[in-house]
Amino acid sequence: MLEDLIRSWDGEEVVVRFDQPTGTWMFVCIHSTVRGPAGGGTRMKTYAAPSDALADAMRLAAAMTLKMAAVDMPFGGGKAVLAVPELLGGEARRGLLLRYADLVASLRGTFNTGPDVNTSAADMDVIGERCGYVFCRSEEHGGSGNPGPHTARGVFHGIGASVRHVFGTDSHEGRVVLVQGLGSVGAPLAEELLAAGARVLASDVVADRAERLGAEVVAAEKVIGTECDVYAPCALGGTLNAETVPRLRCRIVAGSANNQLAEPEDAERLRQAGILYAPDFVINAGGVLNSLGSEHLGWTREQIEDRLAGIGDTLEEIYAKAEAEAITTEAAAEQLARSRLH
Ligand code: NAD
Repeated sequence: MLEDLIRSWDGEEVVVRFDQPTGTWMFVCIHSTVRGPAGGGTRMKTYAAPSDALADAMRLAAAMTLKMAAVDMPFGGGKAVLAVPELLGGEARRGLLLRYADLVASLRGTFNTGPDVNTSAADMDVIGERCGYVFCRSEEHGGSGNPGPHTARGVFHGIGASVRHVFGTDSHEGRVVLVQGLGSVGAPLAEELLAAGARVLASDVVADRAERLGAEVVAAEKVIGTECDVYAPCALGGTLNAETVPRLRCRIVAGSANNQLAEPEDAERLRQAGILYAPDFVINAGGVLNSLGSEHLGWTREQIEDRLAGIGDTLEEIYAKAEAEAITTEAAAEQLARSRLH
């Protein structure tokens, strides 16, 4: 199975190591270095089989190639998965991260990594003890810290561009935005929207998160089907599917969650329903712009803010192309990204 996956992958390189002390499979997948060194998070997770972990890393690495190209970053796409037998803490976790850091260091910059599911800025600090090819370390350790607020700012600009496209106005005043998930991206996004005059409906499985923000609370199971102008998925992937799209009562879907479309056909389902979809890998690129921009490219705060606002411009370009060619916004975004990969 591993052999089949590696043989059929369209990426450049797969690096595999088995970590004896913890029983962890380490997979580093470098999908493309055409635009520059590969960048992508390190995910720590349990999987039913090593091949599931490798397939996950390959899929995520390819998505990073598209994301970097779509927002015109001089980086390629990569992703690493640490397929642990169980989630680790304490010394076992630290030991694993240090050995993983040695592996990343041995790639001599072909792959740069940051946090992902179950890894944090604190873990990047540990990796940074042995390896310089890391981003999103804590600010105390010279990194740019939590990317969430920057991702949120990019989503805010993306919602602005989407609203402009559909309603022909720049104003958020009175616009109804439903934010699903009030974590490190959703909470600052909801705050920015409230400050800009939007009416924010908010939903989280942790009950008091929406109330604390001063937003109107929507029960988690009521999100799909609640009337709003913009539905912003900022919790989990796969919320757009054959069952949910017909029940959506919004004009725009624009949020940070990765892999919002359960299957490729959902992009066409949204188009047919007259719902404008902001492709996730474009609108959620703010974290990457901030961390790689500030830590690896030496961008100033002003340059970063310009690039975050540029997410809105990129989406407008994608929307115009999708309309002109009668294709989905997802297809238009992929074409834009692929055109920058030669
Ligand atoms: P997070 O874990 O900080 O927050 C997720 C929030 O969603 C939590 O508050 C959780 O309680 C809530 N939630 C979970 N299931 C829910 C449900 N069914 N309904 C409503 N709320 C639910 O995660 P995050 O860092 O804010 O990321 C959110 C999404 O954006 C993820 O899909 C992530 O992959 C994606 N993303 C994040 C970043 C980033 O910079 N953090 C960058 C790109 C993409």
